[in-house]
Amino acid sequence: MEFKSISQLKSLLDENKISVKEIAETYIKKINENKDLNIFIYFNEDKIHDQVKETENLSNDNVLKGIPIAVKDLFCTKNMPTTAASKILENFKPTYESFVTQKLIDQGSIFVGKTNLDEFAMGSATNTSFFGNTINPLSKNNNPLAPGGSSGGSAAAVAADLCLGATGTDTGGSIRQPASFCGVVGIKPTYGLCSRWGIAAFASSLDQAGVFSKNVTDSSILLEVIAGHDQRDSTSSNVKIPSFSKNLNSDLRGKVIGIPKEYTVDGISDEINQVWEDAIKSLEKKGAKIKHISLPHTKYALPTYYIIAPAEASSNLARYDGVKYGYRAENPKSLDEMYELTRSEGFGKEVKRRILIGTYVLSAGYYDAYYLKAQKVRKLIANDFIEVFSDCDFILTPTAPSAAFSLNEKQDDPIKMYLNDVFTVPASLAGIPGISIPYGHDKEGLPLGIQLLGKHYNEQEIFNAAFALEKDYE
Ligand code: GLN
Repeated sequence: MEFKSISQLKSLLDENKISVKEIAETYIKKINENKDLNIFIYFNEDKIHDQVKETENLSNDNVLKGIPIAVKDLFCTKNMPTTAASKILENFKPTYESFVTQKLIDQGSIFVGKTNLDEFAMGSATNTSFFGNTINPLSKNNNPLAPGGSSGGSAAAVAADLCLGATGTDTGGSIRQPASFCGVVGIKPTYGLCSRWGIAAFASSLDQAGVFSKNVTDSSILLEVIAGHDQRDSTSSNVKIPSFSKNLNSDLRGKVIGIPKEYTVDGISDEINQVWEDAIKSLEKKGAKIKHISLPHTKYALPTYYIIAPAEASSNLARYDGVKYGYRAENPKSLDEMYELTRSEGFGKEVKRRILIGTYVLSAGYYDAYYLKAQKVRKLIANDFIEVFSDCDFILTPTAPSAAFSLNEKQDDPIKMYLNDVFTVPASLAGIPGISIPYGHDKEGLPLGIQLLGKHYNEQEIFNAAFALEKDYE
């Protein structure tokens, strides 16, 4: 049994054609049949049944009543452990619920489990996880593919139909790139739209929560639920959250779409350029005006991101010291040795690499040359966007430079892996919203994503454009 969308399943539930228990049982079965994909770090049937009991009698006004949702294992959940895919948090049981997951619970959703990710969300292939890599459900012919990352487990869970929605976080592309690799919709809202309370921090000036879904309408429903102000996250905004789903409107007449010339980079396959071209033509046909624009500092975005994100990570991850919580090395001879052993045994290779880079760029003598310089360049990148948005409504680009790659590709070459984020990090640095939707395929039949970027707090605009483009594939 396959349900197409949250809206479809909700109607079945409202008409009493299916019960919350039957929905849960359907998904438990599917998850058990797909264990080889290693999508979940935590899956416990009893916990799902407990939630069914709590949810069954809720009023149907709860927009997510009975809807199966997968949660990236970076969000703290009270009744399920939270690991950040790291050995250092292997046995961590939060005593509180994250803001985002609480909002989902309040609307009656059922958490089917906690999904795999790159350790502390650092990566682009869900292969730095302490719990092994996730396999992209679209893999064929004995060629296992990466689901993208870091929220690869969540994207794969939606693609394999093991839930109807999933949470993700996006610091430099971790929602948009896996959405593109797995052929699902993924939105990273404006920095500040969703509270990060209860999400393990990676790079605090960039981290933002968002969602995966099968279509744009579901994405708008889910974002509406998880957005909102929260006193416990001082960066969360108190803008009024519009009813994104009710306001969905595919009329693009008169809209101006920016096509940035800097996103035509060497080495991108013709197929990706073709898909981009097709989407441009479709928008034009729907009445939008195309404007060729320039975001001149784009080429500095990747190096800027890979200074700022590790710098903040090195600071955020200082808390994992074996004292406060998480893993502690056994039998250390001194306090210093306890710190050292705990951190060298508890963190994986990629996390250590980021901590080392971050510590280096923040160290006395290098701070001005790297960190401060990167901050200045970040401002220039953000200004590029502000300038072009004065006369265009949104921007259209490819999401990622390739379709899903093989699991073993790029494993030993961090730079190659970092290059994956070339189209996603500029928006992260600028704090603007971005959505990736599947749009066409490569010659192997793998999905390709296109990205729509909008003005700060103008998620509605990109939802509408995505909604219009989605119709080309209905
Ligand atoms: N791939 C990027 C990185 O490794 C982005 C990760 C993210 O958005 N969490 O940092």
